[in-house]
Amino acid sequence: MHDWRRNLGEAVAGCAAELKFAEPMARHTTFRIGGLADAWIRVNDRQALACVLRACREAGIRTWLLGRGSNVLVSDQGLRGVVICLGGELEQIEGPGARGEGPRSGLQSPVPNPQSLSAGAGAALDEVATFAEEQGLAGAEFLAGIPGTVGGGLHSNAGAFGRSLGDIVAGITVLDRDGKESVLTGTLIRREYRRPMFDDGLVAVEVKLEFAEGPRSTVQGRMSAAQIREQRWAKHPTEPSVGSFFRNPEKDGERIPAGKLIEQCGLKGRTIGGARVSEKHANFLVNIGRARFADVYELVQIVKATVEEQTGILLEEEVQYLPGPTVGRSQKPEVRRQNSRIGAANGGR
Ligand SMILES: Cc1cc2nc3c(=O)[nH]c(=O)nc-3n(C[C@H](O)[C@H](O)[C@H](O)COP(=O)(O)OP(=O)(O)OC[C@H]3O[C@@H](n4cnc5c(N)ncnc54)[C@H](O)[C@@H]3O)c2cc1C
Repeated sequence: MHDWRRNLGEAVAGCAAELKFAEPMARHTTFRIGGLADAWIRVNDRQALACVLRACREAGIRTWLLGRGSNVLVSDQGLRGVVICLGGELEQIEGPGARGEGPRSGLQSPVPNPQSLSAGAGAALDEVATFAEEQGLAGAEFLAGIPGTVGGGLHSNAGAFGRSLGDIVAGITVLDRDGKESVLTGTLIRREYRRPMFDDGLVAVEVKLEFAEGPRSTVQGRMSAAQIREQRWAKHPTEPSVGSFFRNPEKDGERIPAGKLIEQCGLKGRTIGGARVSEKHANFLVNIGRARFADVYELVQIVKATVEEQTGILLEEEVQYLPGPTVGRSQKPEVRRQNSRIGAANGGR
């Protein structure tokens, strides 16, 4: 019988792709947490992505898309199946001024509108902010300093400073799990607060961004990408994390900062194993060294229970658990036993 590893290796042999087996996910997540993925593959163009998706589909192998791993918490048991990252041409950004010049010009969709640009789903959001600014386009500055990719950003309608990707996305090119391509526009794109902008199972390969506000020089009082980065560095913890762990809950039509609620409940500094509620920003759970999934998951339960008890508000995770929402629950009995020890060591905080 053929080994699935050999089959996968053969399927991608002629493609622009790099394949590794038994890859630690802690290397690919900003939390530095996560066990081994059966296989990890970086695809460098659309054809290679389609080829891998098709090969995995035909072999019944599960696939996981991953950008910079800055919005996921991966189980210590890792992931069964193949983790796919986008590189090469899929990281490129193209605007009207860059067509046909240099390495940022490998994208396939035309960019006829001088107020628009195209970015591969593997491009860094921070680079999109820089690139738009270089092109004199106003409206993408809020992406500066968000440490994820365009694809990951589309998955959560990423945003900051009162703006989100959904405000500037005009079209999304996607592949389905058979490698078939289509373009989403209009109502096919969802634009809800921190929710996926398209259906599960689709893989984003490229996005078209449109800027209604005109040249940057005409917008008064808007912070530049550099100023936004500076503000972030001043406010955000430097330890490994996934950024804001919880969505800001909505009450009476307004969003309440989850960090404020967590702070008011006296949870700053609360520590379980290697995971801590940051002293600097209470919506950041940070890895203070060798944190495991179980540490973070237990801390999350404490934060949610305390905030609900004291404020009546149930916080909801912005971060995605991998392999799925029940992964923590299956680890709970073991976690609880450990926690009573760790809680005592921390003075029961
Ligand atoms: C220090 C710090 C600060 C942060 N600040 C912010 C902030 O201000 N605002 C904000 O919104 N977020 C913030 N985040 C969270 C995170 O950076 C964003 O959510 C980012 O958009 C995630 O991108 P990623 O590439 O890391 O996605 P990943 O974490 O790699 O993946 C997230 C999800 O997207 C899916 N995905 C990835 N690529 C694709 C693709 N091509 N097609 C389909 N699905 C895909 C994955 O399968 C997964 O389900 C912060 C994180 C950190 C660590």
